[in-house]
Amino acid sequence: MTVSRPIHVHIAPAAIRDNYRLAKRLAPAARAWAVIKADAYGHGQWRAVEALRDEADGFALLECEQAVALRQAGVTQPLLLLEGIFSPADVAAVVEHRLTTVVHCCEQLAWLTAACPAETPLSLCLKLNTGMNRLGFTAATLPRARELLRRLPHADITLMTHFAEADGVRGIDWQLQRFRGLAGDWQGTVSLANSAAILRHPQTHADWVRPGIMLYGASPFADQSAAELSLRPAMTLSSRIIAVQELDAGERVGYGGTFTAPRKMRIGVVACGYADGYPRHAPSGTPLAVLGRRSATVGRVSMDMLACDLSEIPEAAIGAPVTLWGEGAGGSVPADEVAAAAGTIAYELFCAVAPRVPVVVGER
Ligand SMILES: *Cc1c(COP(=O)(O)O)cnc(C)c1O
Repeated sequence: MTVSRPIHVHIAPAAIRDNYRLAKRLAPAARAWAVIKADAYGHGQWRAVEALRDEADGFALLECEQAVALRQAGVTQPLLLLEGIFSPADVAAVVEHRLTTVVHCCEQLAWLTAACPAETPLSLCLKLNTGMNRLGFTAATLPRARELLRRLPHADITLMTHFAEADGVRGIDWQLQRFRGLAGDWQGTVSLANSAAILRHPQTHADWVRPGIMLYGASPFADQSAAELSLRPAMTLSSRIIAVQELDAGERVGYGGTFTAPRKMRIGVVACGYADGYPRHAPSGTPLAVLGRRSATVGRVSMDMLACDLSEIPEAAIGAPVTLWGEGAGGSVPADEVAAAAGTIAYELFCAVAPRVPVVVGER
C-alpha cells in the first residue's frame, strides 16, 4: 500500500556495504560477523543480508528460526546465534542447519551433549564473562564447561567475550587481561571486538570481529561522529511540514505547553510523532533539518506530530521536506545528534522506527 502521509524511512543498502568494507579494512586479518540482530538494528534483516550477501564472512543474530530462514533462502555463510540456544528444542536446528551457537552456560552445554552423539560436527562460540556480567563462563564455571566439552570432541570451538566499555574511558585492557587469564594457553580461534573495539582498539581484532552499529552508519562513541569515522548513514527518517503557525510572544506549543515563544515565531508542524518511533522524550531543541537548513523541535512530541522552529527558514511552507535524522531532501542530521539530545543512543532510535512508517529502499 502506498500512503500519502509523507513520513518515510529510507534504507541505503550500499551504505551498509560500504560500512562493512570499512570494518574489514580496519581489521584486515579478521573475518567479520555482520551483526543483523533486532531486524538489522531496524534496517530490515533481509535488506542487510541482501546488501552483504556476496561479501559478509558470516551473519550474527539471535533467533534460531531466523537463522533457519536464512539457510532456506540459500545463505551459506556461517550464522552465529549470539545468545545461543534457549532450550533443548533448538539443538536439532543447530545441527541440521550448521548454525554456530554461543554457549554461555553449562545448561546449554548439557542440552547439546544430551542430544548430540560425540561425533556431531558442532561449531560453538564459548563465551567468557570478563566483566560485562551478563553472559558467559567465569573462573568458577569454566572447569565444568571444559568437562562437558570433552563429550563433544568434534566441536569446533571459538573463544569469545564482549566488551562493556570499549566506547568509554575505561576501555578494554582490563577485560582483555581477564580474558587471557581465563583462556590460558588457548591457541584456537578468538572473537572479541564489537564496533567500538574495531574502530578504537586494534589489539582486539583477533580472528573474528563483530561489527553492529557501525554497519548502519552511527558512531559507537559519544566523542567522535560517524562522519569523522568515515561511516555512511544507512537510515534516513524523513517527512514534511503539514502546517505552519505564526505565534505571538508568550504563546505555547503542544501538550503541556512546555515551550513558550519568547518572541514572534514561525512554527512548522511535521508529520512525525512517537507512534512513528520518534522519541517522545526528545526535548525542545532536538535537531532536525528543513529544506536543507538546520533547525530544532519545539514543545512536546505528540503521537503523530512534532513542531519545529521555522523562524529562520521563511521559505519553508506546507510540503517542505524535513529530515528527522540521516541524509535526505530535508538536509542532513546525524542520528547520533538526535539521540544525544534525547538522552539515548542511535541504536535505540533505529530499532524503534515503527512498522507504520513506509520503507523506501535505495540511494536517495
Ligand atoms: C550486538 C552485539 C555486537 C555488536 O555490537 P555493536 O556495538 O553494535 O557493534 C557484538 N557482539 C555481541 C555479542 C553483541 O550482542
